[in-house]
Formats: sequence, structure tokens, C-alpha cells
Amino acid sequence: MQDSYKRTFDIDRASQYRLIADPTQNWDLVVIGGGATGLGIALDAVARGYKTLLVEQADFAKGTSSRSTKLVHGGVRYLAQGDIRLVREASVERGLLRRNAPHLVRNQTFIIPVYTYWDCLKYTVGLKIYDWISGKLTLGSSVFISRKKTLEALPGLNGKELVGGVLYHDGQFDDSRLAVNLVQSILENGGSAVNYTKVIALQKDHEGKTRGVIIKDAEHQVTYAVSAKAVVNATGVFVDDILQMDRGSASKSICVSQGVHLVLDKKFFPSEHALMIPQTSDGRVLFAVPWHEKVVLGTTDTPVEEASLEPKALEKEINFILETAGGYLTLKPKRSDVLSVFAGLRPLAAPAEGEQKTKEISRSHKIMVSPSNLFTILGGKWTTYRKMGQDMVNRIEKVLGWKHRRPKTVDLRIHGSAPDVNWSDPLYFYGSDADLIKERMNGSTGKWISDSLKIHKMQVIWAVEKEMALTVEDVLSRRTRALLLDAKESIRIAPTVARIMADLLKKDEAWVERQVDEYKQVAQHYVLEKN
Ligand SMILES: Cc1cc2nc3c(=O)[nH]c(=O)nc-3n(C[C@H](O)[C@H](O)[C@H](O)COP(=O)(O)OP(=O)(O)OC[C@H]3O[C@@H](n4cnc5c(N)ncnc54)[C@H](O)[C@@H]3O)c2cc1C
Repeated sequence: MQDSYKRTFDIDRASQYRLIADPTQNWDLVVIGGGATGLGIALDAVARGYKTLLVEQADFAKGTSSRSTKLVHGGVRYLAQGDIRLVREASVERGLLRRNAPHLVRNQTFIIPVYTYWDCLKYTVGLKIYDWISGKLTLGSSVFISRKKTLEALPGLNGKELVGGVLYHDGQFDDSRLAVNLVQSILENGGSAVNYTKVIALQKDHEGKTRGVIIKDAEHQVTYAVSAKAVVNATGVFVDDILQMDRGSASKSICVSQGVHLVLDKKFFPSEHALMIPQTSDGRVLFAVPWHEKVVLGTTDTPVEEASLEPKALEKEINFILETAGGYLTLKPKRSDVLSVFAGLRPLAAPAEGEQKTKEISRSHKIMVSPSNLFTILGGKWTTYRKMGQDMVNRIEKVLGWKHRRPKTVDLRIHGSAPDVNWSDPLYFYGSDADLIKERMNGSTGKWISDSLKIHKMQVIWAVEKEMALTVEDVLSRRTRALLLDAKESIRIAPTVARIMADLLKKDEAWVERQVDEYKQVAQHYVLEKN
């Protein structure tokens, strides 16, 4: 078992495509979808020695997996719903992820402000149960704190009628950075993964069994037929599209629920602790979480009909978050204070009886096997992505009669893993790669492209050379988090980023202009007030 990663490597799409184009390759697994779920499955399979290819139609984590609340958590809310099994599973996974990706997952203290003595008792006892469920993998014990201590710990909190607070521990992370590091880990362990590659059809044999996929490389508009012993549908809110390819028609297997987050300057909540409001006016949970020197507020739970890769926040969701947060903070945020607004779609396994509200649907995952042996996975959380991967590969082995191979991801360190993390270093999230980037920064003439977001030219180069970034949006939204941290600032630096990328990718001025235009089209939806 290694403690940290010492090496770095180039990720090169061309070499991945040479493998894909080779007709003699017979993959054990093809995984469709490069979000948390697909990456977890591919890494588990690769670690067991299965020859695995993952294909993602857009960028890795372009969908839901870059739009989470950034928590690696057991789920206090699921405890309140009585879903002890899920809380136990997620608490164990939280501990494993913190151990295997310590450069991305930090131990975050949360405080629940309480306003009645009954709530003091309820949350103190509830969180002790939460600690107990995590067992040895707990991140720390919960404790009741006085009104005075609560206000000292949460300087932005409105103290009106406050009785005290309950402090507990959970994990906090960077979702798309974890996705990028998982891609790197898949490749380092002998697997293959490509972005901008869409599955457009399934291949079947004469018995109607799934034997591979037809994929299209969006960069070069080339189509390939890929044979595989097992095909996995891990496409989140798009699972029904792949099921439709399988069956010709498909009943609805998921419910889509939208969650919105607002990002604010730290002055609105200048605390190292996160705030957790367990019950808002409509029974939801609201968090204010410190993240990359800003504060993330969210989220909502709104059923939506259509799945999209760029979901848009609804006005009522934005107003709900601003109003609810305003009730707890001394400095009340206005629309004009919002640095970024982002929305994500939860792929929830459809409930048996159609009456349930989306916030009550279990976040547990569910595996389905079609008569054609297409393996589909629904639901789940980022926190449990490893376990989901393990369960899926176990299931494939069982259904296809493969000899069981022992799962290996419990102890597998994820790329970038480094034991000592300086969280105040602006490049901390690169983990063991940070020193390599800094060495190259010192030798380069380029400066910070954004002083306020601390983004350096070398990070753009790194993203292209080592992290398979192909577009300005890949760099500004998922390799760095500029789009989510300050959308206007990200639009300002987009032309500079495009020019650096064009030099590396040998693109012309027309490409630069197109990239900047396309980026602005996407980023304008993250800006609330255009001025
Ligand atoms: C608002 C919100 C907050 C959340 N907060 C948390 C949290 O704090 N902690 C936590 O643990 N979990 C959280 N979750 C849950 C977690 O984010 C999701 O469970 C997880 O990201 C889902 O990952 P996925 O891979 O299943 O889906 P996705 O990330 O959507 O990935 C599916 C991928 O499949 C690709 N795809 C689709 N069709 C094709 C095709 N034909 N060919 C190739 N690729 C295709 C898509 O482009 C997409 O990238 C949150 C979810 C939401 C919505």
C-alpha cells in the first residue's frame, strides 16, 4: 500500500484512441459515463485486473458529478429518515475516501444552531448515534456547545433566540478534482478512459446479448465499434436513453431532482466551520460550507421533467436559498452578491409507489440487469462511489459466471494522494502533483491569470497535458473551479486561457474565438446579475 503518489504522467487522448481503434482488443468491460459512478466502477474493475474502457460523451464530471454540495458525508438527513443502512455505508465510505484521497477530502466541522431545548436534546442524541454508526472511521465526536461558543464559532450567525449549537464532523471535498484524479488512477492501473466520446448504439450478438458499443469521438467525428464482454450503463440522469437503445422502448427508471447552489464571498459567513440547517421552512436541509475561500449555500430539491447537461437554476430556488440563508446570517446576501449559481440533477431510482416526494426517495443505489445483460446502475451519492463500483463488478462477475476476483479499492490510494496537506496553499488540491506544478511555475515567465482566484498559466498547461482538458470550459469549470467560484471573473480570463490552450493544441485564432464564445454561452447562466 503506497502512502502518496510520487509520479506524474501524460494523458494523451491519441494513445487511448489507438487502443480503441485496435480491433484485436477485447475489453472485459466498457463503462458508459464518466461521472462519479462510472469512474468508481472502472477503477474497481481495473484494480481487479479486468481490461476496462470508460467513455464519457462530454468532459469527465460534466454532469451531476461537478455540481454536488461538496460533502463526503454519512448523511445526517438520512439518519432522520431512519435509513441507518445507508448512513452506515456512507460513513464507512467517507472514512475510506478521506484515507485514500487525503488531498481532496478534509475533516469539516459542522454546527447546527438550535433554538429550543427540545432541539438541543434531539440533535445532541441524534448526532451521538451518527458518531456511533461510523465506528472506527469516525472523523471526530459531536458535542453540544453553548450559545456563546456557537456565536464565537459562527461569527456571521444571527443570534436571535439562539439556545446553543451542536458541533459534529463530516467530510468536505472537491468533486470534479476527485473525478480527474480517478481518471488518472484508472489509467495508471492499466485501464483506458476518454472524454468527448459518446455511445450512440449497443452491439448485440445473435442471441440478443450485449457484446459491445458503437462510440463516436466528438473531437474528430470518427465512429468506432468496440467489443466487450460486459457493458455498464452508468449515465446518471441519462440511464433511460441507454436503456432505450437496449430495449427500443423503456419505462422510466429514474426520477430527476434538481439541486441549486449559490456561491458567496466569505465575508457573509467568515467561519472555518460549516453551518447546517436541518429543517428549513419546507422541510429541506440547507448548508453553508466554506469552499476554496468562498461559501457554498445549498441546496434545493425540485423535481424536473427533462435531464440536461447544463441544468438552469429556477428563480424560486434562488429566492428560497437567499431568503433562508438571510434568516440565519447577520449580513443578508442579495442577488448582486452571488458570485456563481450552479444547478445539478440527482439521478434517483424511481420509487415503487409514485407518490413519494423526491426529497424522501432513498439515496441508495440500485443495480439492474437487462435480459440482454446490459448492467445499469441508478441512484447513489458521490460519497459511496467506491462501494457502488465494487457492488457493480461483483454483480457482473456473478451474472456472467466469471471467477470472483477480490476487490482492491479499499486500500487503493487515488492519484494525488499526499499525507500532509497545507489547506491554505492555493494549489493544495493537486496533492502530490502540486510540487511538480510549482517547479514549472518558477521556471515560467507567465503570471497568475487571475489574482483573486489564484489561477496560474501553468495550471492551464497542466490541465491540457496531464488532465485531458480539451476546452476552455474543461479548464475553468472542472480542472480549476473558477466558473463555480466567481463566474464573472472566469469569463474575464477565458480569452487568456483559450490562447494558452490554442498554443498547446495547435489551434488557430478562429478556434480561440469559438471557444470563448461557447464558454460565455455556458457561463452566463452562472451569473445572476449581469450589470
Ligand atoms: C445538487 C446535488 C448535490 C449533491 N451533493 C452531494 C454531496 O454533497 N455529497 C454526495 O456524496 N453526493 C451528492 N450528490 C449526489 C452525487 O453528486 C451524485 O450521486 C453523483 O454525482 C452522480 O454521479 P453519476 O456518475 O451517476 O452521474 P453523472 O455525474 O451525471 O455522470 C453521468 C455521465 O454519463 C455521461 N453520459 C450520458 N450519456 C452518455 C453516452 N451516451 N455516452 C457516454 N457518456 C454518456 C454524462 O455526460 C455524464 O457525465 C449531490 C447531487 C446533487 C444533484
